[in-house]
Amino acid sequence: MTSATDPIQNAGPEALGESRVEQEAREIAPGVFFLAGFGNTTILIGSEGAAIVDPGLFTNGPRVVRELRHLTDLPVRYVIYTHGHYDHAFGTPAIMEDAAARGHDAPDIVGHVNVAKRFERYAKTSGHLAGTFDAQFAIWGPGGGDVVRNAKYFPPTIAYEDRLLLDGLGDLPVECRHGLGETDDHTWVWVPGARVIVGGDFIVSSLPNAGTPFRVQRYVLEWAEALEEMASVEPLSVISGHGGIFGDHAQEMLLTTSTALRYLDGEVVRRLNEGQWQEQILAEVELPEELAASSYLQPLYGCTAFAVRDIMRRYMGWYDGNPSMIFPSSRADVATEVVALTGGTAPVMERARVLGASEETAEIQRALHLVDFVIFNGGEQVDEAHALKAELLDIRSKRERSFVAHNILASAAVIERESGATA
Ligand SMILES: [Zn+2]
Repeated sequence: MTSATDPIQNAGPEALGESRVEQEAREIAPGVFFLAGFGNTTILIGSEGAAIVDPGLFTNGPRVVRELRHLTDLPVRYVIYTHGHYDHAFGTPAIMEDAAARGHDAPDIVGHVNVAKRFERYAKTSGHLAGTFDAQFAIWGPGGGDVVRNAKYFPPTIAYEDRLLLDGLGDLPVECRHGLGETDDHTWVWVPGARVIVGGDFIVSSLPNAGTPFRVQRYVLEWAEALEEMASVEPLSVISGHGGIFGDHAQEMLLTTSTALRYLDGEVVRRLNEGQWQEQILAEVELPEELAASSYLQPLYGCTAFAVRDIMRRYMGWYDGNPSMIFPSSRADVATEVVALTGGTAPVMERARVLGASEETAEIQRALHLVDFVIFNGGEQVDEAHALKAELLDIRSKRERSFVAHNILASAAVIERESGATA
């Protein structure tokens, strides 16, 4: 039985939102404390020391230290990264400062060998990344890219490849296991004494985020395999990277999710082998009804279309089946030709407004494409076009349940309004 006060709640569709409300750390099993945040943190406390799994965003570090020090004065032996994303592995500086202030040895940083490679890539492409975070999170105000600009890198001092047993906490042994999934540097943490898994972003309390438009390749089939390996150890609780904690239904959640990921991978591959191209695959591949209805697979964080895109990227090149697109003209050149044929931008805008007033998402989407002709043509009615595009993006964003899809569209609307205002 679970209740509102039970520390282990089976995450439902609302759980993702709940984890964004900061709460105090709570003990979910002996020595295992869950600290909800935008990216969840887990604090492990044994007889001889503590470990922090995922200190979170750089702004989250001081909060982690505060919560830790309510619980124990023991030194932190390990900071474990489930992966090197900005919302998981960058709260470390505050933990290092706390250790120094207390005269403790600096904790070891534990992660998969690819974490350091990720950090090198982050440093190499920091301008690009900061720009993409500004764009992805513009709806929350300027400065989304500060997670990149303010990042202090603490790469692993203990890097492992496949599995690693950590015994520095005394009576609470901790095992790190690697799997490919959201990233190529992912770890899930197994605490066998408490039968708890800290799942990182393998678990996001909804359809996995198996493809984000701004981000590099994700690994859908291996993700399924990792979830099956988690199920094989028969955990009592599984802590998500975003969202809640799975208790009674952990096994069902793991295996239902792996079934869905295997389905998507298999379906895309089958269609590729039949000679289909991206446009058709993207338009037609959906989860079967029974899976789509599962409470574990609601598109609250990721969405099916984004996962399908990443699966295609995994198995094929960038060619889309249309030879006109091998060496394409600029969008501005095409738009100029089209607007010349329509005798100016007015009929294009008019039709875009008609389509944009529709209830049908497909028609709103077509309105976006029409408005682009006016924007890329430049000049005539371009401010109006930016304003209409912003409106259309807002409407579109409200129809997306996925956190990632919604944010990108709503943020794009904010940016469109700004570019209309300064055009
Ligand atoms: Zn992540």
